[in-house]
Amino acid sequence: MVTLTNLPDAPWIRDAELNGPPEPDPVYCPVCGEDCSEIYFDKGGNVVGCDYCISRQDAGEWAAEEAEKAREIEEDRKCDERRLGDDW
Ligand SMILES: [Zn+2]
Repeated sequence: MVTLTNLPDAPWIRDAELNGPPEPDPVYCPVCGEDCSEIYFDKGGNVVGCDYCISRQDAGEWAAEEAEKAREIEEDRKCDERRLGDDW
């Protein structure tokens, strides 16, 4: 007699029991083309990248690095001005 409890499992369930759950199909980032697990969007819903090609940083650290770069650029500019001044 076939009851609800002794029905054979569907083939994909038997597969999953033998081999583990199937691997999800790979998703490729439209920006970098890498096989990725997360996609990131901007406010407009446009894809900007994935967990592979997007990096993140502490905002305070980023601001400090930007300030340092700006300071170096300003120093280089002053050096160039001095050098130009010597040539004249
Ligand atoms: Zn990517």
